[in-house]
Amino acid sequence: MRIAIAPGDGIGKEVIPVARRILEMLLPGAEFFDVELGYEKWKRTGSACTDEDIGALKDSDAILFGAVTTPPDPCYSSVLLRIRKELDLYANLRPVCGDGFDIMIVRENTEGLYSGIEEIGTERSTTLRVVTRKGSERIARCACGLAKERRNSLVIGNKANVLKSDVLFRDTCLSVAAEEGVSARTAYIDALTLDVLMHPANYDVIVTTNIFGDILSDACGYLTGGLGMLPSANIGEKYAFFEPVHGSAPDIAGKGIANPIAAIRSAAMLLAHLGRTEEAEAVEDAVGFVLAAGIKTPDLGGDSSTEEVGEAVIKRLS
Ligand code: ATP
Ligand code: MG
Repeated sequence: MRIAIAPGDGIGKEVIPVARRILEMLLPGAEFFDVELGYEKWKRTGSACTDEDIGALKDSDAILFGAVTTPPDPCYSSVLLRIRKELDLYANLRPVCGDGFDIMIVRENTEGLYSGIEEIGTERSTTLRVVTRKGSERIARCACGLAKERRNSLVIGNKANVLKSDVLFRDTCLSVAAEEGVSARTAYIDALTLDVLMHPANYDVIVTTNIFGDILSDACGYLTGGLGMLPSANIGEKYAFFEPVHGSAPDIAGKGIANPIAAIRSAAMLLAHLGRTEEAEAVEDAVGFVLAAGIKTPDLGGDSSTEEVGEAVIKRLS
């Protein structure tokens, strides 16, 4: 088994080594290899992500990624968008769990407003929002598969009343859910976001288009104590890529205080994806134990360092 490790920039370099140690402990037979990506690499070599890097990522059973800084430089194109496209990682899974709630946000990852079809002018700029039947169908299948393993309840977040492109998304999701025997309802994304924050226990799986899923899942950070807690998976037919929801957090990078929980939970999702569900649950349990013991980084109101939280999780696991 081959696991690619790409810490990236900023706090990625601090939280990913912690998550890696946990994976090395729980996957003793696996081969781990580093892939350097991101802004630091761009400054040094002129390229943030080479064809060889993409090749290396593809030559893995799973990828653990940190975060990359995207500078406002017009010559710099997003590493993450490139990886999502080249590896066709169409499903972005963002679980949000806490006391009394367990939500899985399933975000379509390849089309919608992030299709990259834009015309930029000084008086008028446009971004094309692309919704296809094929794209909607495969994300709906993925969401229904998860709903069936969970509590069989799917909410389709949309804005079909205003965005007519969402009619195709909504109706495709509804018919896939009917076919799969999953209980589904539709909801407008704006009202849905408020309701999820007010009544998180009422939700199981939520499927939605690219930008809505991005905003909804960041907003749900509120339910869990912040961005430092949220893991995610990017899944395609062939490849699987795991990363914390947060970015490179330049404001706190280098201080040793970044919360490693999102990265550790991303490692747990990687384990589950490889079929190591027991190990994945053990990691989640250890995280719960460490938080309950009050071993927390400053973003959660504690005074522990990244290393101390990581060590506490590892100690609980061993
Ligand atoms: P990027 O451009 O890489 O996305 P950003 O400036 O948007 O960087 P984020 O990483 O998205 O930064 O973080 C937003 C805020 O949340 C920052 O103030 C950051 O310090 C905080 N934050 C994010 N992740 C963590 C973490 N793991 N631990 C503690 N604080 C975090
Ligand atoms: Mg950010």
